[in-house]
Amino acid sequence: MLIRKGYKFRLKLRDGEKQKFSQFAGCCRFAWNKALAVQDERFSNDNAKLLSKTKLLNLLPEWKHESAFLKEVHSQILQQSLIDLDRAYQNFFRRMKKIRGGDFSEGEDPGYPRFKKKFLHDSFRFPQGFRLENRHVYLPRLGWFRFYKSREIEGKPKNVTVTRNGKHWDISVQVEQEIPDPCPVREPSTGLDMGISRFYTCSDGTFSEPLNAFRSLEKKLAREQRKLSRKNKFSRNWKKQKAKVNKLHRKIRDVRLDYLHKHSTALVRRYGRVYAEDLQVKNMSGSAKGTMENPGKNVKAKSGLNKSILDQGWSEFMRQLEYKLAWLGGELVRISPHHTSQACSVCGHISKNNRKSQSRFVCEACGLEINADHNAAINIQTLGQRGLACEANRTSGRQQELSRNGDRVPGLAA
Ligand SMILES: [Zn+2]
Repeated sequence: MLIRKGYKFRLKLRDGEKQKFSQFAGCCRFAWNKALAVQDERFSNDNAKLLSKTKLLNLLPEWKHESAFLKEVHSQILQQSLIDLDRAYQNFFRRMKKIRGGDFSEGEDPGYPRFKKKFLHDSFRFPQGFRLENRHVYLPRLGWFRFYKSREIEGKPKNVTVTRNGKHWDISVQVEQEIPDPCPVREPSTGLDMGISRFYTCSDGTFSEPLNAFRSLEKKLAREQRKLSRKNKFSRNWKKQKAKVNKLHRKIRDVRLDYLHKHSTALVRRYGRVYAEDLQVKNMSGSAKGTMENPGKNVKAKSGLNKSILDQGWSEFMRQLEYKLAWLGGELVRISPHHTSQACSVCGHISKNNRKSQSRFVCEACGLEINADHNAAINIQTLGQRGLACEANRTSGRQQELSRNGDRVPGLAA
């Protein structure tokens, strides 16, 4: 099985070198935004079709003529920006089609390509011409640079992306690697209930605590954002504060990603097949809404921000579970939620009143007393095993497109 995965490292740069990197990123941003303006105008005008990738690339020589500074950077990276934009549009159209087909919940963002902002989206990519030797990387027109090599790179490097990360610059190396086809490992299986007071609960009763570090960081972020709003925009102090806010954003993102990776890896090491509710459907269902409004004692899922972070966490977690299970020969099976939180896992009696509180489940019919999330996880497993799985969402054969830059292979890489 051929898989793609990414390695990320921090570059060791001197200040003078950083300037050159900013210039490269700036030119790519310029090309992206210019091309996006062209496509966006055509998109807003119903009669015009978007320019093809080739036609878009053919505009570059003219732009270089108009804006001489574009000639100072490697043309390959400018081309790559336009190719990336073309792909962003393809992805957008694909998601739109899905939304129209009813595969996504309403309000789902199809991800229309956006204009890039300075500092925030600074990056450029080399599809070829780069070289990797030991702890050094060669970037065309920029030279050799040392990077902090935290782990060995396995597989064949396909491209290198350079991204600004606060004061630093990182490289992500995407590689293609042939790994042995996994033997199907479908046992043991578990049902998985995603929640708020517990991040997930398995049908054997084990569960994970929610990411608490997150909430204190979030509070801090809100505080720093309030401070930012009181400062004069673009003043010296505003810029300082803005940098602080951005740093916190990155920290939250890193902490969350790390948490999700740790837990998804732990799960795929324990189980071969995981049954989980289809989150899009779960989000729309009344029971989930009720859960959001009456979260557990320690949880305040009040703000929209909090909720969206939570949602993101769930779907990213599912995405990780799906590709990690697939790489190891297991599978993620999505089931449509069907009274999973109201039905008794022993006698099957369905009633709203079974749910005494967020965490307590007491069956009116048979008297079963159990943690509510645990009860739901058992129901999910039962539904999954009965074969009520949404067949269309099976994972087999989709491993390729599931993986993304920065993905980690459980068991294959430390
Ligand atoms: Zn019962």
